[in-house]
Amino acid sequence: MKIPTGHGTPLVSLQGVGPAIAARLEKLGIDSVESLLFHLPFRYQDRSRDIPLATLRPMQTVSVVGEICDSRLYFGRRRALLVQLRDPHNDRPGRLQIRLFHFNEAQRRQLSRGRWLRCFGEVRPGPDGPELIHPEYRLFDHQPPPPTERTLTPVYPACQGVSQQTLRKLCRQALDDLPLTLPELLPDYCGLDQNLPALGEALQFLHLPPADTDTELLTRGQHPAQQRLALEELLAHRLALLRLRQRRLAAKAPSMNSTGMLWQTLRKQLPFALTAAQQRVLNEIEADLARNRPMLRLLQGDVGCGKTIIAAAAALWALEAGYQVALMAPTELLAEQHFHNFSQWLADFPIPLHWLASGITRKQRQQLHTQLVSNQPQIVIGTHALFQSTVTFTQLGLIIVDEQHRFGVDQRLALRQKGQAKGLQPHQLIMTATPIPRTLAMTLYAELDISSIDELPPGRQTITTVAVPQSRRDEVVERVHRACQNGQQVYWVCPLIDESEVLAARAAVTTASELQAELKDLAIGLVHGRMKSAEKEAVMTRFRHHDIGLLVATTVIEVGVDVPTATLMIIENAERLGLSQLHQLRGRVGRGQQAASCVLLYQPPLGEYSRKRLTAMRETNDGFAIARRDLELRGPGEILGTRQTGLQQLRIADVIRDRALLPLVATLSAQVQQAATVDALIQRWIRDAEPYGDV
Ligand code: ADP
Ligand code: MG
Repeated sequence: MKIPTGHGTPLVSLQGVGPAIAARLEKLGIDSVESLLFHLPFRYQDRSRDIPLATLRPMQTVSVVGEICDSRLYFGRRRALLVQLRDPHNDRPGRLQIRLFHFNEAQRRQLSRGRWLRCFGEVRPGPDGPELIHPEYRLFDHQPPPPTERTLTPVYPACQGVSQQTLRKLCRQALDDLPLTLPELLPDYCGLDQNLPALGEALQFLHLPPADTDTELLTRGQHPAQQRLALEELLAHRLALLRLRQRRLAAKAPSMNSTGMLWQTLRKQLPFALTAAQQRVLNEIEADLARNRPMLRLLQGDVGCGKTIIAAAAALWALEAGYQVALMAPTELLAEQHFHNFSQWLADFPIPLHWLASGITRKQRQQLHTQLVSNQPQIVIGTHALFQSTVTFTQLGLIIVDEQHRFGVDQRLALRQKGQAKGLQPHQLIMTATPIPRTLAMTLYAELDISSIDELPPGRQTITTVAVPQSRRDEVVERVHRACQNGQQVYWVCPLIDESEVLAARAAVTTASELQAELKDLAIGLVHGRMKSAEKEAVMTRFRHHDIGLLVATTVIEVGVDVPTATLMIIENAERLGLSQLHQLRGRVGRGQQAASCVLLYQPPLGEYSRKRLTAMRETNDGFAIARRDLELRGPGEILGTRQTGLQQLRIADVIRDRALLPLVATLSAQVQQAATVDALIQRWIRDAEPYGDV
């Protein structure tokens, strides 16, 4: 049997824990005495007082005490042992029936008249008044009854083979040695403003709150004891990320001294001028690239704000300096579109542009490899195949990752490894249309520098959004028809059903043929994830050239697809999609000068959250506002998760619930950054903390 080996005090040092129990505890994420102490109750029971039997109400969970006045077998539909309790000492004597379906002979004999019983369970309405069915119980003969619990009783997340009893016993034991196992690591001043308790006090309280505690605060996670732990956890995460940042800034990167000549040439050919926000961001990036420290910059900006051209400008800067550039997109469709754009933008420059996706042949890969080892400046555009494949770069200077929320940090790091040649790390530019509020970014993205494009190109129309029930689908089809007849272009999106690409594709195929049957005079195209890359690209090109008026698609078109002449977006089953995803899809229209609209087709009845999402979509076009609503509705786990931050899930803190703590976390991290306890703090909260170790 494998003995868990967490860092910290081994569990087997607790009395009653052998390798078998330790292994089971590990299933709960408990691999040391320290992590046991952070395994907090998710609710509490009140066994601190006995409720008079006469006052019991159904559904109450209670502790009661009484004398057995009757005990008999009942042979009804289901054999049961019925035990009657009374509490003669109260002013209002009451009665309660205990019903046991499973019992043995010994139990039956023990539960006899004249003995006393304390029970804990949920009151049910029975045929003859209140009942407890299979309560926890304890027999006794003497009076007065044994004392009740002095604290609330913790209920822990448990699992098979680890009972509440075991967890309670072990936690009590661990609490006895708490000051040794978990010494206070925060300086005194940390909790001062907030009146937060010390660590030991907070843990003691949360495992065994005094009987008179108001559990309402605890349920909401707002109790100062919980806030104290959340503060420490958030602080540890931020400190770990700041370590990563320090580490990065201690590494070497190519200092790219370009004149910007290539970019200036391209810029003059563009049909538009950069917005002030784009120009500001580009300046920040160019300054980074000129330094000999690796850039790690998150470029956030709403859908359609024009991030791609900034990526191109950055790429030209690196290429001009003689380096290779890799651009990675989350879907093949988006990668193809970038490839298409870049090949136009680079047409006048002698810079090779390569394609790398999972579909390329071995021979193509070898060719690519041969070209890349030539050390010549060139650019490779592709999907995740970029970091999976065996292709290596000899002169990689800049990695651009588009729509970062679709990638994990590991993938980005794997790509970075490919450019480690000559001890130089490549610069990284990460782009996302899922912005997060600034205070959150300070904690979750502390390792990154952040640039924001906070303005859309001039002349953009806001998108009018309406929600329409499926029952009025005919009207929507008619609207699509009229739009196409007027020379507009329309997307019709059939989202993923059951997360299955096959089913989604089928839905899109069906919808396309239905629509074609209804709208015989229209040129209708279809793209979905099961099509060959060349087929997809052919359809997209026809749509771009306006040979197709209506494009039926799965969510493959969610990110990046840019056809400025499209003005109407229909999203089917909109109630099933998340807010960010809806916003991304809607962002496919309204990219040109013409007014655009979005129709959210939904299937009633709407659940509470679906309704809120659709309302948010109708109320705002602002990506920041949408991101905030999305965070509130879904919680950050799904949106930011570990994938974006590079850290594991938070154990106790919740960045939305505890957002009031974030400014304090930022201030404190600056104050304690140099403290001797920082390593211990990171070790305590971050599993596999090694990469965050001292630089
Ligand atoms: P996103 O930020 O969502 O990736 P894109 O880079 O796809 O947005 O840009 C959306 C559209 O806006 C593209 O057609 C692009 O050519 C155009 N665009 C970019 N910058 C400007 C600008 N400054 N003025 C006008 N149009 C612009
Ligand atoms: Mg984009």
